Amino acid sequence: MDSRRIFFQKLAGPFIAIPLLSRKELPLFNDKNKVVYQGPVLRVAIMGLGSYGTRVAEAMQSCTKAKLVGIISGTPSKITAWQSKYNIPEKNCYNYENFDAIKDNPDIDAVYIITPNALHKNQAIRVAKAGKHVISEKPMALNAHEGQEMIDACKKANVKLLVGYRMHFEAKTLEVIRMRQAGELGKIVFFQGLCGFKIGDPTQWRLNKQLAGGGSIMDIGIYAINGARYMVGEDPVWVTAQETKTDTIKFKEGVDETIQFQFGFPSGAIASCLSSYGMNGLDRFYLNGNKGFAELLPSTGYGPIKGKTNKGELTQAHVTHQTVQMEEFSAIILEGKKPIVPVDGEEALKDLKIIDAIYASVKNNKKVNLYL
Ligand code: NDP
Repeated sequence: MDSRRIFFQKLAGPFIAIPLLSRKELPLFNDKNKVVYQGPVLRVAIMGLGSYGTRVAEAMQSCTKAKLVGIISGTPSKITAWQSKYNIPEKNCYNYENFDAIKDNPDIDAVYIITPNALHKNQAIRVAKAGKHVISEKPMALNAHEGQEMIDACKKANVKLLVGYRMHFEAKTLEVIRMRQAGELGKIVFFQGLCGFKIGDPTQWRLNKQLAGGGSIMDIGIYAINGARYMVGEDPVWVTAQETKTDTIKFKEGVDETIQFQFGFPSGAIASCLSSYGMNGLDRFYLNGNKGFAELLPSTGYGPIKGKTNKGELTQAHVTHQTVQMEEFSAIILEGKKPIVPVDGEEALKDLKIIDAIYASVKNNKKVNLYL
């Protein structure tokens, strides 16, 4: 045994168990005897320093594979505050007018767009043209046509396009997916997705059709749409949808308050979902198979997610969703890792095609076939 290996094993002492490793695999330790990550780090600039951007920035402080290094904002006071809070150098700060210059900044690998929905498309195309990887918040765009434009721009620029589907990395969700894939729930026959909350301030951008692209479906119903697909494990082939509106002043033309929608899947499984800005406490997924069931309640909030199946309580540990997501995004972008459930533009495009079909079904009161 070489002396370095003996040294490390002594150093680890009673605190941690380290396996016998070859010289090449020897880990490095910091002064608290913790293994220090030595792999590639995704250097990220956040665009849009609002409520969710703030949450992502905080969560990234616990990342080892991803680092917040830059910001893009229309609010100078936020830039100053974030610079001092996160130690961001002046040369990595941009506004919406000048951020194309990011192309000349070798210290930024990716831009995470966390602005109102209607801005994602053009901002993503500009980021792609600047040669940086694009991470977009959900919904990726306002409709499938826009989503396709984003995919094409990123392909042309040879950069990756990922979408902030944080639930795709959540441990209890992944356990249900594992059980379903392993056949432990039997043949899947039914999914129910309830997603909603009572929205406040009527002046916010989420209730402005120009900036939001719609109403509850764009913002919260998309979790049931996407969730139906990863829980059932298939893409729907038809959708029917019905809208109800109790407040036509708050929810103007084109801004949906509540939509119920149903899916049919190729296997014959069906789904029944509810998306609402008018009801509190809607956060439940229920998956039914002919051998068992899984329930996530809550299912898509920031967590901890709770769940049970016919085999008992799900006990996987909670980790801040945005931290895990950014670690995984780094591995996907820099190491070519394949996630269990995709998080790329094509995945998000399917949700946008479904949203288009939901609105079409509401408008025409007809079943709409889907070709995903
Ligand atoms: P906020 O309103 O809190 O923040 C949006 C930020 O975008 C603003 O603070 C502002 O930042 C910037 N911005 C640029 N142009 C405008 C404009 N015309 N109007 C308003 N803001 C503008 O929204 P959220 O952070 O809640 O949502 C942003 C995105 O993140 C949405 O697409 C949303 O769907 C998504 N989201 C995703 C979540 C998830 O769990 N995955 C959770 C919450 C939101 P600045 O002042 O720096 O320019």
